[in-house]
Amino acid sequence: MHFYLATSFIFPRSLRLRLFTLCFIATHLPLLAYLGWGFASGRIALAEFVLLTLATVVGTGIALLGIGALLNPIHALAQTLHRDGEAPALPEVGDVIHTLYAGVQRAASVTRERMDDLHQAAHEDPLTGIANRRGFLAHIDALPDDRRRGCIAIIDIDYFKRVNDLLGHEEGDRVLASFATRLSALVRRVDMVARWGGEEFAIFFQDCIEDEASWSLARIASRMRSEPIGRVQDRPISFSAGVCRWTGGDLDVALRRADDALYEAKQSGRDRVCRAAPILQEL
Ligand code: GH3
Ligand code: MG
Ligand code: MG
Repeated sequence: MHFYLATSFIFPRSLRLRLFTLCFIATHLPLLAYLGWGFASGRIALAEFVLLTLATVVGTGIALLGIGALLNPIHALAQTLHRDGEAPALPEVGDVIHTLYAGVQRAASVTRERMDDLHQAAHEDPLTGIANRRGFLAHIDALPDDRRRGCIAIIDIDYFKRVNDLLGHEEGDRVLASFATRLSALVRRVDMVARWGGEEFAIFFQDCIEDEASWSLARIASRMRSEPIGRVQDRPISFSAGVCRWTGGDLDVALRRADDALYEAKQSGRDRVCRAAPILQEL
């Protein structure tokens, strides 16, 4: 592209003429060198001069015809791109390389946008708009070493089946979306909230110890009572949670222990937060 731009002063609007000019100069160099040497030394032979001139003219003709034929398909492609609106109008609109370059850039940008959309769709839960399990794990996986510590909480809405059964699935969906909004609103920006699946959610409290994570969850639980996101059988919708500290080791172990702690919270009456026993490497 540098050479292409550097030579654009020759015929700014026509690559074909630019190539022809360069080809003409290049194929005449031997003849010019011979003439220069001949005049300088006074030893110019007519037969050699005529022969060299004829060879130069024939060589130039072949080169020009060849370049012209090679450019035809590129030109046709550029015209197609213009017709299909693939390439935006450019100052040098007749220039095939610019047109092709713009077409390729546009195609690359459309591909990039589609890749971004696909990536987002794969990592986001469509109902609640927050990350899904895959997004949660990818987020933690991408954290730098010094941020790979904190607490994992697995959260499960209590008696959610009753919301569906008594109020309908639409209300169930609304409650799930409201709960996701509530969680996201009440944690810090560095914390990661995700829909773990069904009516289960996960939070990564970055750089927190269990006291801080439990306090944060207790504050959310209290808000669920003072400003319910919904009511079933005249009781505010509540949640149970299990919390486990994670210090950068095997994440699956921490997740399993948080899940065990959640089970304990359910078993001991729901609407509460239970802590997991410390993971082995912390002992
Ligand atoms: P527990 O307190 O033990 O957690 O009881 P629960 O009723 O919350 O738990 P259970 O596992 O019995 O029921 C969960 C229900 O969540 C069952 C399932 O139909 C419902 N559910 C899962 N995903 C969705 C969803 O996307 N939308 C709606 N409306 N319901 C969902
Ligand atoms: Mg559940
Ligand atoms: Mg539940």
